[in-house]
Amino acid sequence: MEYKIKRSNRKTISLELTPEGLLVRAPLQASLEEIEKVIHKHRRWIDSHMQKLEKELEEASSAGMLSQQDLRDLARQAREYLPGRVAFYEPLIGVRAGRITIRTQKSRWGSCSAKGNLNFNCLLMLTPSEVIDSVVVHELCHLKEMNHSRRFYDEVNRVYPEYDKWHRWLRDHGGAIMKRVEW
Ligand SMILES: [Zn+2]
Repeated sequence: MEYKIKRSNRKTISLELTPEGLLVRAPLQASLEEIEKVIHKHRRWIDSHMQKLEKELEEASSAGMLSQQDLRDLARQAREYLPGRVAFYEPLIGVRAGRITIRTQKSRWGSCSAKGNLNFNCLLMLTPSEVIDSVVVHELCHLKEMNHSRRFYDEVNRVYPEYDKWHRWLRDHGGAIMKRVEW
């Protein structure tokens, strides 16, 4: 297996998969033997994640890269569409959201602040509407439960019984969508 080593003043060896391959972060003095041992131990994790990453890159390149104009169009669509979905679910959950912001982000689909402001990724507009609703419900439920506790997920599933199914969709295909943007 090919990999790159980045040595620094750290204490442990960590592995990270990047589109360029396996990146090993290692302490300055770590021997190659130690590094190979860690890689060997996590071989199965590396293989399965590498496969997922390759599939995502394939999916992303067949769908095509998004231009700046595409992203502006998606952001405009999101600003038109998302407030209505938020307004639809607010009374079902019994909360009121603050400001809604649309961003292009490479790692998150939505978030919410302690003040109750919501933030959504414009790339959501490339997913099925059921996925968008699942993210809206997730963030709105955080206005009630600021954590991922059992209580939080009970509320999410009460409001949106198909949550798990669409959350899984996003986990399986979301990475490929985010890879259509040059960050
Ligand atoms: Zn959350």
